[in-house]
Amino acid sequence: MDLLRLALAARVRLVPERATRVDVHTREIVTESGERVPADVAVLDVGGESAAREHAGNAVLAKPALSLARLGAWLDGDSGQARTLVLVGGGAAGTEIALNVSARFPREALRVTLVEPADRLLPEFSASLGRRALQLLRERGVDVRLGAQAETAHARGVTLRGGEDLHADAVVWATGTGPHPLPRASGLPLTHRGLVRVGRDLRVEGSEWLLASGDCAAVAGHEHLARSGVHAVKQGPALLANADLLVRAVERGDDLARVRLAPWRPYPVAPYLVSTGASEALCALGPVGLRGRAFLALKHRADGRWLRRYDPNM
Ligand SMILES: Cc1cc2nc3c(=O)[nH]c(=O)nc-3n(C[C@H](O)[C@H](O)[C@H](O)COP(=O)(O)OP(=O)(O)OC[C@H]3O[C@@H](n4cnc5c(N)ncnc54)[C@H](O)[C@@H]3O)c2cc1C
Repeated sequence: MDLLRLALAARVRLVPERATRVDVHTREIVTESGERVPADVAVLDVGGESAAREHAGNAVLAKPALSLARLGAWLDGDSGQARTLVLVGGGAAGTEIALNVSARFPREALRVTLVEPADRLLPEFSASLGRRALQLLRERGVDVRLGAQAETAHARGVTLRGGEDLHADAVVWATGTGPHPLPRASGLPLTHRGLVRVGRDLRVEGSEWLLASGDCAAVAGHEHLARSGVHAVKQGPALLANADLLVRAVERGDDLARVRLAPWRPYPVAPYLVSTGASEALCALGPVGLRGRAFLALKHRADGRWLRRYDPNM
């Protein structure tokens, strides 16, 4: 999405920098160049980072998602000879990437290995979906290593626990979503998983002027929800409404601690659709696993409609 175009249209000042922390005492956002952006009301939506990234070396990280652009550029580059790719993590992200690259490239052009410590793929979903993903990947010649734990990624590939080295021209580190460092650096209240604690109204505990949502936040009463775009997107309207209430209260000079905000409610079950790179998608609905062409059409229609709201050229 063209963030600059969206910001200009909304008359928003875009600061193209990483924020390093929130100064809760002075109510400022501090950026990596040292700029301090004052805020009467602020929203934290920095997402998560790849878990165990300290072992990832120079691997392409699945989180933040923008890092995956490096994988796209590498795949698009034509080396003229067979290449090897190792994917670390057989959860939703790693499996979906493996399914899509193996559908796009024949095995002679790209040898793909997928490493997962559990005894099946997609361990967070129903066993039938894991079996289907495994069947498709093996049919396409992907080397799926179940029960194998990657220790570190390095310049020549990946070292597994036990010492085996897997050679790779490129490595993708898709080990799940870990916490973003910004809430901790800001001294915000955290869960044991390092997520910033927010109330059901998405307000950060103890900071009446600060909201947080998406992968970086744990909502009271819903701490165990998966880090998922479905939940992050559903938080958007509540976030907008509550930020608006706070801004209006600032304009009136009201005490923000006394402003009542609307609660956010998650979907009872959040569907998760994994594209296989071919004609079908796998659909996880809580403990239920389904698959078929209709789910792929649904995935493209839902994602496309959402993206076109922000960029008509999508
Ligand atoms: C390969 C893959 C496939 C996925 N597929 C699905 C799916 O099919 N369905 C689904 O529901 N979910 C899916 N997810 C999960 C989904 O992408 C996330 O749950 C969702 O994007 C979380 O939204 P968010 O706004 O919290 O964070 P993000 O979308 O990660 O956005 C965070 C933003 O903050 C920016 N940022 C980070 N740090 C800073 C900083 N210090 N200063 C300023 N800006 C910063 C980042 O650049 C990014 O733009 C997938 C994830 C991956 C990796």
